[in-house]
Amino acid sequence: MRHVLRRKDVYLDGAADTPIDPAVRREMEPYLSKSGVGNSFAIHSYGITNGIAVEKARYQIAEDIGCRPEEVFFTSGATEGNNWVIKELALAELSSKKRKKRMHIICGATEHSSVINACKQVENWGFSVTYLVGTGSDGKILGKDVRAALREDTLLVCAMAVNNETGVANDSSQIAMYAKRNGSLTLIDCTQALSEGGESLCLTKRFMYGDFFSFSAHKIYGPGGIGCLIMMKDVQKRLPPLLSGGAQERGLRAGTVNVAGVIGMAKAIDLMRHHDYRDHFAKLVSYMIDKENNSGIFELNAFPDCNSILSLNFSKSCDSDKLAEDFSAYGVAVSAGSACDSEHDETAGDFNPSHVLASIGLIEKEVRNTVRVSLTKYTTEKDIKRFLVAAHKIAAFYAKLKTQNGEARE
Ligand code: PMP
Repeated sequence: MRHVLRRKDVYLDGAADTPIDPAVRREMEPYLSKSGVGNSFAIHSYGITNGIAVEKARYQIAEDIGCRPEEVFFTSGATEGNNWVIKELALAELSSKKRKKRMHIICGATEHSSVINACKQVENWGFSVTYLVGTGSDGKILGKDVRAALREDTLLVCAMAVNNETGVANDSSQIAMYAKRNGSLTLIDCTQALSEGGESLCLTKRFMYGDFFSFSAHKIYGPGGIGCLIMMKDVQKRLPPLLSGGAQERGLRAGTVNVAGVIGMAKAIDLMRHHDYRDHFAKLVSYMIDKENNSGIFELNAFPDCNSILSLNFSKSCDSDKLAEDFSAYGVAVSAGSACDSEHDETAGDFNPSHVLASIGLIEKEVRNTVRVSLTKYTTEKDIKRFLVAAHKIAAFYAKLKTQNGEARE
């Protein structure tokens, strides 16, 4: 039985979803009210008003990210952006008249399932995919790893900016540089790379040679079901439309625009751009990983480059593959790994080991006894203390169980 979360539970699952910032909600409210009606493509006053608001939001986002407004494409989120780039680029290549097609893709072994599974799909279409394990610490993919894996026929390199389970950052900038030199394109999944705010939002400056950047607003205190694919101008001709229909998103992604979502996302991005949360996260992390506070009952699986995501290994103190549920029972919401990969079929009962943790060399027991703790800008030291209290109680429970089992065997 899964525990239904009580709303007063401590929330430490910011990598899966973040609470909407009240300022974002206020910005969206007029567009959710009766007078906010209007298809942004309609030619009456309602439509024109909303159309102007959408384009203003696009300008704002472009300014914060450091790209041109015409490089911002609204999507339903990173899953859509990732699938769009991988599958449509592959289809375009398949249908091109070129004699020498580029039929190879490099995909980081620790990419999000929306990237890995899209790559698996294009393998069925005849592409060969290298699932690259990084040689940097904790599976970090370095520029030289990609340089060695690039082939003459490499079409695309998928190298996420920050891993959603470990907080480890790939060397995406160098990777994109080597890819460009090879005539290959780069998709950088930036979904988890914006949580520290400030300069982290300036994607085109951070990853100068990247071609496509995907992310979702709900990871940065914006609404769910809306995101962006940032597509550099010089590669736009290479990516066919995702959805055919109306002329929205310059004919590349048809469908009525989610006006309130776009407005909320623009506000969320702007708020993040103007606040820096690095110190906030660093303080909480150093409190949590201080052995005086955690008594060594867990250790970090990977040292995070992005401090809002921590992968904690309890294998020395616990023996469970239901740790996230144990924490939930103690009023603390953490996750077993990526929410997207968790098994929702209660009857299946199968353990679904994280491909990320396996690829950085953890043995099964360590993977089973891992939880992901991911912080938000609202997380307080009190929340971390409650997490630690729960962690100690859970460790004590498993220690007692071990003793009882040992005694029973004697
Ligand atoms: N990429 C990464 C790195 C993610 O963490 C997530 C969300 N877990 C996604 C893509 C997919 O985002 P969404 O579900 O909002 O489409």
